[in-house]
Amino acid sequence: MAAFTYPAQPHERRHGPQGYASYTSYRPWLRDEFSFRCVYCLLREPWARHGSLDIDHFLAVAHNPGKVNDYDNLLYACTTCNSAKGDRLMPDPTSVLTSGAVHVAEDGSIHAANPEAARLIELLGLDSAPATEFRMLWKRRCQRPAGTVT
Ligand SMILES: [Zn+2]
Repeated sequence: MAAFTYPAQPHERRHGPQGYASYTSYRPWLRDEFSFRCVYCLLREPWARHGSLDIDHFLAVAHNPGKVNDYDNLLYACTTCNSAKGDRLMPDPTSVLTSGAVHVAEDGSIHAANPEAARLIELLGLDSAPATEFRMLWKRRCQRPAGTVT
């Protein structure tokens, strides 16, 4: 899987755990559900500063307290994206951010093919200079043949 290739299809939940008293108990399920990557920017766990990502409430708890422990409302997201999102209502990344709608070019720049994807990219700052530079760096590292020393 290329470093920044978004999923080809909208995400369909593979897991449906229920009954935990705290949403943090769903972390192992979410890590697997979203392939150990941020659902918004595709940052992988090993690239994260603390080696783990946040649990994001798609519908913010501030506006939807009843969904605090609802597995289908939980996403796996990096701290940067989770903070940028805050309590705002956004287009659903699991259906909007697909490879048909979002493309990352060789230079790390990100491009949207429809207005909803463009809105998500803008709201989260995924087209910022640091984000673009970060993607370019990791694209190069991931493309380097195994065993290459520089
Ligand atoms: Zn992210």
